[in-house]
Amino acid sequence: MTATEAVDLRLSVPAMDCPTCAGKVDRALERVDGVVSVELRPTSGRVDVAYDPDLVSEARIIAAIEGAGYGVDGRLEGPYPRLERSATWRTRRAASIAIGAVLATIGAAVTLAFTTLDVTLATAAWWTLTTGQLAYVMSTIVAGTPILRDGFYSLRQRSLDIDLLMSIAIVGAIAAALPFEAAMLAVLYSIAELLERHAMDRARSSMHELLDLSPETAHRLDDDGETPVAVEDLAVDDRVAVRPGERIPVDGTVLSGTSAVDQAPITGESIPVEVVEGDEVFAGSINEGGYLEVRVDTPAGDSTLARIIELVEDAESGRTEHEQFVDRFAALYTPAVVVFAVAVAIGPPLLVDAAWRTWFLRGLTLLVIACPCAFVISTPVSVVSGITSAARNGVLIKGGRHLEAMAEVEVLAIDKTGTLTTGDLVVEDVRPIDTEIDEVLAIAGALEARSEHPIGTAITRRSADAGVDLPDVSEFDARPGLGVSGTIDGRRYHVGSPSLFRSLGFDLDRADAYTDGGRPVDLRRDLIPDVRTEGNTIIFVGTDERIFGILTVADTVRPAAATAIDRLRTVGIERIVLLTGDNEAAAAAVAESVGIETIHAGLLPEEKLAIIEELEATYGPVAMLGDGVNDAPALAAATVGIAMGAAGTDTAIEAADIALMGDDLGHVPYLAHLARRADGVIRQNIYASLAVKAVLAVGAPIGVVTVVHAVLIGDMGMSLGVTGNAMRLAKLRPTSE
Ligand code: ADP
Ligand code: MG
Repeated sequence: MTATEAVDLRLSVPAMDCPTCAGKVDRALERVDGVVSVELRPTSGRVDVAYDPDLVSEARIIAAIEGAGYGVDGRLEGPYPRLERSATWRTRRAASIAIGAVLATIGAAVTLAFTTLDVTLATAAWWTLTTGQLAYVMSTIVAGTPILRDGFYSLRQRSLDIDLLMSIAIVGAIAAALPFEAAMLAVLYSIAELLERHAMDRARSSMHELLDLSPETAHRLDDDGETPVAVEDLAVDDRVAVRPGERIPVDGTVLSGTSAVDQAPITGESIPVEVVEGDEVFAGSINEGGYLEVRVDTPAGDSTLARIIELVEDAESGRTEHEQFVDRFAALYTPAVVVFAVAVAIGPPLLVDAAWRTWFLRGLTLLVIACPCAFVISTPVSVVSGITSAARNGVLIKGGRHLEAMAEVEVLAIDKTGTLTTGDLVVEDVRPIDTEIDEVLAIAGALEARSEHPIGTAITRRSADAGVDLPDVSEFDARPGLGVSGTIDGRRYHVGSPSLFRSLGFDLDRADAYTDGGRPVDLRRDLIPDVRTEGNTIIFVGTDERIFGILTVADTVRPAAATAIDRLRTVGIERIVLLTGDNEAAAAAVAESVGIETIHAGLLPEEKLAIIEELEATYGPVAMLGDGVNDAPALAAATVGIAMGAAGTDTAIEAADIALMGDDLGHVPYLAHLARRADGVIRQNIYASLAVKAVLAVGAPIGVVTVVHAVLIGDMGMSLGVTGNAMRLAKLRPTSE
């Protein structure tokens, strides 16, 4: 795509709310020259188009969408437009269905109960129109017009979809003087559609409810006190006041005050988090404790919550493998059943002189059964339901196919620092070699001040505690998985793992390479055992020529880690592997305490990647769980990359297929469990709708299944069934397994 010239257009097309509808819009836009890319979100009635303004105009694009039968409500502006939608039950369509239903009931009453009223009004050819039948015909017109309109657009696009099939069935029924059947088709099918839409709306709106949680106004603090302003009008760096009990209006940083903040909408973690000055807070979370002053860090539309919702919507627009299978199957199934329907309708009357009316009706029934409806929505509703419920629990799944892949994963690779451990590291020991402790802390602190690694944070904190002055650093260089380097006063310094120094040409095993107070020392034998306590990370500080300091850094294993690992095994993750850039002893200590048997230590980022590929080759799909910042390559290489603690770090969200917004390891078994359940639900839905269709298709030609059965069971019943089944996924909670 030529992003430089393309213009982005985001349109609200509320009527486009089903995968079939989206397909039509897609085909309509495909034919427009100059359209560079199209993204359709039927679940929110949104169309994103990128187009080349030299070749096509906005009006032309809108005309194309409207030509496919979908009214364009207008442009959606802003980074995150709130979509207003009227409730399904209050639309004009719902009203016309209600009138259609009343008319059909009148028809039934007149033809069945009050037959004296059922007088003949007119006769023409094989049609005898009575009062009761007139009621049916009117019912068909009122409820069926929108179907016929959609069917007409499908016909124009030559797509044999549900709208076209239903239209043919309705028109056929009227033509064959079967007004009761026509009215049933029109009314029942419309109700089925409405129910389907309602179910989809419900699945989706549970996400939008979250966005509605963030308040629309905020108290801005300025020189003359407090002014209430709309959240949209806040600028970055504005200050806002948040009182106890209020919701935090923006993503920002606490400037003053302390409080407990309930971040459940973002992280899914219901236990409030203590925040103090300098901490990050998120729009939509609730300030439960004290008064806070917060600096605005991002414009309202860009808040983490808005981004989550946007990503969830994007996630729903991708096609999963199951969906592709269903589409391929439907593409064969529908024409096959249509051909069968035609054969049933005209075959017997022509060949064996059977009753036209009977066989025509049976053919008509088959036509209704040819609609792949329930079958087609069975997967998307499950995916939407799964992704939405995950998002509500702080797990952001960036595409249905990741949910699908997660269900297959039996091997999980876990990063150590910041993932299995808290990443809140503490420097335990500082051992200078032939120099002063302050020199070590000054150099290490200065270099690490530029690093985003948790080790860097620990070292900088220690230097600050020691009160040393940090010299200026130039030519800073972070080496992922190794350490950091930089120039101070014209001299090159390095802080990092033994491997970093080995790669710089140091021979760490030579016994007499170092002197301490004039005496030669053996780094390995004398110094390292000295500082190493069980499971600590060892960091060297040095120049190109000599190592002049050793630091040890201790990390804490997350309290939830052991339980999470245990539960992962019970939900079917059979193999758990620890990957770390840290030393073997540190890795072994952590692995032991959480119950992981396999470890790979001393890995560089690209070696982590190689191990992932090896695991994939041996065991199939592999999930990698990391902190998302320095594990990006491994996350990308894994079948499913899961980033932890992603709230507030865009890079982590971007790098991962699935992001855990909080840093509760308990969400990982939840995710694995949810993925497996979703997979189960999808299979049940697909097979159940197939089985029902098969039974109906056998029943129709022998006359056991009528048009009413076909619509009631095959369409409405199954649609409700698959949606209801999918909604079960929403009940899953991170702790409730
Ligand atoms: P993990 O795989 O445990 O998350 P990393 O791959 O991030 O660890 O880092 C591996 C090793 O590289 C660390 O144990 C440390 O020895 C060294 N290292 C990485 N970054 C830094 C840094 N900023 N300062 C010092 N050492 C570092
Ligand atoms: Mg890490």
